[in-house]
Amino acid sequence: MRILILGGTTEAASLARQLVGHDIITSLAGRTENPAALPGRVRVGGFGGVQGLAEYVRAEAIERVIDATHPFAARISANAAEACAAIGVPRLMLVRPAWPRRPDDLWHPVATMDEAARRLPELGRRAFLTVGIGEMGAFAIVAGVHCVVRLIAPQPLPLSDYQVVAGKGPFDAAAELALLRQYRIDVVVTKESGGAATYGKIAAARELGLPVLMVSRPPVPEGEAVDSIKAAIRWIGP
Ligand code: NAP
Repeated sequence: MRILILGGTTEAASLARQLVGHDIITSLAGRTENPAALPGRVRVGGFGGVQGLAEYVRAEAIERVIDATHPFAARISANAAEACAAIGVPRLMLVRPAWPRRPDDLWHPVATMDEAARRLPELGRRAFLTVGIGEMGAFAIVAGVHCVVRLIAPQPLPLSDYQVVAGKGPFDAAAELALLRQYRIDVVVTKESGGAATYGKIAAARELGLPVLMVSRPPVPEGEAVDSIKAAIRWIGP
């Protein structure tokens, strides 16, 4: 079967590796330099909206689409929902489970990045920001907080008081604990991404009793969804 995986996540890569015996095309947005090698074909770059994606799926005679993108990649997921519905191609969402909240976690859920930026000065003076380069604009309004921002590649940011720490996951809890101590962090800002690769900072914040500004996930489009690679493979069938 010819399957298009909308990727850019570790789950999408694992799925591509495990869907043996199928004709797999993984699609990447092209945000990361040197992405990990994947089996099957890999295409890179946007499709050009809903219509472009629908045309691509039809032209490549794709039989199934698996949307295994990041929980915060809301636009491509919405586009996939609309495109697949329009041309009648079955689509499955592989949605990474959210992190379970423990009683000793000091999470402050917020609906948007703007709300996280507004609330930040209430919660600390030295923030660890791990929300991705695309979200930095929201934090331009923050005053009186030193932001330690982790990015894959250092670059100038529109923040008033910051430093960049370069790093690419996975990050384990011991290293995250050391980092939070080294930079004397008193508040952590993160997306509710879920997954093991970035859970270390959550565990480390809990251990240090630090508040975490937790930006909630955008809604998932309608349609069939599973939360494990195993279930996605079952959906494809033999
Ligand atoms: P987004 O806001 O949902 O998408 C913006 C545009 O980028 C889409 O409209 C589409 O362009 C293109 N695009 C996104 N994902 C694509 C894919 N897998 N293949 C081809 N085109 C894609 O997405 P985003 O939040 O920028 O995320 C981009 C990629 O990074 C996704 O693949 C996602 O899985 C991965 N990622 C995102 C995050 C995050 O926090 N958002 C974290 C880790 C990894 P067209 O409209 O032109 O088709």
